[in-house]
Amino acid sequence: MLSLEDVGRRFASGTEALRGVSLAIAAGDFIALLGPSGCGKSTLLRLLAGLDRPDHGRVSWRGAPPASGEIGFVFQDPTLLPWASAAENVYLPLRLRGVALTEARPRIAEALAKVGLAGFETARPAQLSGGMRMRVSIARALLTRPKLLLMDEPFAALDEFTRHKLQADLLAWWRDAGCTIVFVTHSIYEAAFLARRVILMSARPGRIAGEIAADLPAGPARRLDPAYAALVATLTRRLEESHRQGAPA
Ligand code: ADP
Repeated sequence: MLSLEDVGRRFASGTEALRGVSLAIAAGDFIALLGPSGCGKSTLLRLLAGLDRPDHGRVSWRGAPPASGEIGFVFQDPTLLPWASAAENVYLPLRLRGVALTEARPRIAEALAKVGLAGFETARPAQLSGGMRMRVSIARALLTRPKLLLMDEPFAALDEFTRHKLQADLLAWWRDAGCTIVFVTHSIYEAAFLARRVILMSARPGRIAGEIAADLPAGPARRLDPAYAALVATLTRRLEESHRQGAPA
């Protein structure tokens, strides 16, 4: 669906955020970008979204590049309008496209119900927990049925119980939506639980240090599966090796 060939990005400040990054992303895949803070993960997402351009190499789409709305973004901060209700927040991308609220309402209700927030349409962000606010943010991203969903450490600020629940739910939403997800994280556990491909990144400048296929059995028992524990161990070992070879973290 999308490929990066030998992509490099150096900012005007002189910081080289990415060097020699090549990656092919297939439709329907779930990819985790795993690496320490500052290794260029967010920069890579912005390049995929077309919000930034590489100054070396190419980012190319197979076929036509996506139209606006075909790429969804979810950040660590749910970025909700504080004065607007959950429904109005979810409505935002359709409102920006000129879709009337009466027409959008069934889709908004469906999106909120899908993320477990039926009955919370009129709640303001301040009345919702951190996990619920993230659910609103994900509902808003899924509403436009994106082909590609880019997620930048969306669960990093949540407590572990909420994070586990959202991770499990995200896998169900991804299967249901049939979209492609690129998920940035610095958690080995999160990458192992969610992704089918884990891309390991190393810092300064950000490069791909390796890739591990991670096709664990589906279902709620995944976290207890010995294959999950083995994958966590493999990822831990690979990250320690790449730290030994590279700059200190
Ligand atoms: P990550 O998401 O892995 O934490 P980022 O992609 O945010 O990393 O940043 C990679 C490096 O590029 C960091 O050293 C960061 O300070 C730097 N950087 C990011 N954006 C800019 C920018 N707009 N201008 C200058 N430096 C930047």
